[in-house]
This record gives sequence, C-alpha cells and structure tokens, in this order.
Amino acid sequence: MYKHILLAIDFSANTENIVARAVKMVSQHSAKLSLVHILDNIPMPDTSYGTIISLGDESDNSLLEQEKTKLNVLGEKLSVPENQRWLIWGTPKDEITTLAAQEGVDLIVIGSHARHGLALLLGSTASGVLHHAPCDLLAVRLPQE
Ligand code: AMP
Repeated sequence: MYKHILLAIDFSANTENIVARAVKMVSQHSAKLSLVHILDNIPMPDTSYGTIISLGDESDNSLLEQEKTKLNVLGEKLSVPENQRWLIWGTPKDEITTLAAQEGVDLIVIGSHARHGLALLLGSTASGVLHHAPCDLLAVRLPQE
C-alpha cells in the first residue's frame, strides 16, 4: 500500500489524465496526496543572481500569481491541504525528487509523452525523475499533443 503520493503537474493540455490516475491511486491506497508544480520558467525572487529579474517586476508577479491560483484551484478541488501544495523554483526532475525524499513520498505520479527525434535525445522529465527517484514512480502515458 502506498501511504504518500506526490502528483507532479505542469498544467499542460493533458493534466486531467494524470490527475485522474493519481486520484484513483489515492483512493485505492487510502493515501495522503501532495501536489507539486515547479516554476521552471519564472524568474526567482533572488536578486543575488544578476541575470535573474526580481519579482518586484509586475509582469513576473502576475505570472507567479497565475501559477499559485492554478495550484490552489486544483488543491481545493482534490481536497489537498495547503501545506501539501508545493510551488518550487528550479528544475522539475531535481526538485520533484528532492521533495519526494524530504516528504517521505512513496509514489510519484507523473506524465510521460511518447517521444522521438530530438525530444528523445533531450530526454523527458519522467525519465529524469525515474533515474533519481527515492521511491516508486507511476509514469502516466499521455497522448501526443
Ligand atoms: P515533460 O517531460 O516536460 O513533457 O513532462 C512530463 C511530466 O512531467 C508532466 O506531465 C508532469 O507530470 C511533469 N512535469 C513536467 N514539468 C513539470 C513542472 N514544471 N512541474 C511539475 N511537474 C512537471
């Protein structure tokens, strides 16, 4: 039985498929559910790095607010407590695996696209997480976008 499931969401077109699968696993295992969204395209609010734009900038703030809102809407819908909704700056594969270890997660649920060509060479978040995960991983196959 899994006790703590971490659902990694990027809010792309097929998010619903992954959410549905995670919800099913949560109910089958009577597990706790946590949500994580990694901010990999919004500047960090840390001005010690010269190239990173401060969140004081209005457009960046609104981007962050949008991401927060999306995560909170999903969290409310799935009855996930606020302290189990994670919004983290960084690289998805690194931050997802680090959070899983830190929070004692025993199953990560993630989407996986069929890839070919250059995308295959560049790798995917799912394969990156698989190589570093401290626990089991459920890679939900997503249809081609
Ligand atoms: P990708 O390899 O980028 O197509 O992403 C595959 C899956 O990795 C997505 O369906 C999500 O489950 C997860 N993922 C990718 N990017 C993020 C992100 N920024 N935050 C959380 N999960 C992500």
